[in-house]
Amino acid sequence: MIQGSIFRNYYKTILTFIMLTFISWGNVDINVASQIPILSYHNVQTNPKKPSAYFISSVAFEKQIKHLKENGYHTVLPDDIYNHYTKGTTLPEKPIMLSFDDTRKEHFNIVAPILEKYGYKGTFFIMTVAIGKKNYMTVAEIKMLSERGHCIGHHTWDHQDLRKLPIKEWNTQIDKPKKKLEEIIGKEVKYLAYPFGLCNDYAVTELNKRNFKGAFQLSGKQDKNDPLFSLRRLIVPGNWDGVRLLKEISASFR
Ligand SMILES: [Zn+2]
Repeated sequence: MIQGSIFRNYYKTILTFIMLTFISWGNVDINVASQIPILSYHNVQTNPKKPSAYFISSVAFEKQIKHLKENGYHTVLPDDIYNHYTKGTTLPEKPIMLSFDDTRKEHFNIVAPILEKYGYKGTFFIMTVAIGKKNYMTVAEIKMLSERGHCIGHHTWDHQDLRKLPIKEWNTQIDKPKKKLEEIIGKEVKYLAYPFGLCNDYAVTELNKRNFKGAFQLSGKQDKNDPLFSLRRLIVPGNWDGVRLLKEISASFR
């Protein structure tokens, strides 16, 4: 009897150990995903009026990128983060994702050449209403970015808050633009940046129905249940130098 109970306890301990190992692996995965720094930029201009959260000069931008490079950062794309999280594929040392919202012309003219100079790749979130308009990228430019190895993501048709988008408008805001972008780049569009960085369960559920693989918010908390649909991004103001940027990265992504 005693021997039997020792035996049972022994197996119980082993079983508990195995279960805890798996549970902690699960947590580690979620934490690792949250630790990948993801930066968000908007307007990158040769001569912006005043540096702010949404405006950075091309000179300041290049200084930041150069600083990241000199400090050993390697850019990753949304697929790398997805594969790392879901399949455990290895990321390069000091991974970082650089993202650019709103289809701005200078993303093609200024940002992409700077990134390419340092061997970096970016992710460009496109609102399709702006394509071809003054100060915004054309179809050909978006296609070229994709062909040069950058990632093209979705940013709705005209920048609507997805948390309360009526169901009848998902076709206009999400389905049609997704199809349009896929026609332009000839590849599947699998990732989205929430307009205003705002998401909730409703938005995540609707995106899942449409086969998205992940979505990016801004500074909100990453959802433990939907970590890939609440990936956090840090907006980089135009007045940060490289040193400040690295400090903010380590404070924001733990
Ligand atoms: Zn936006």
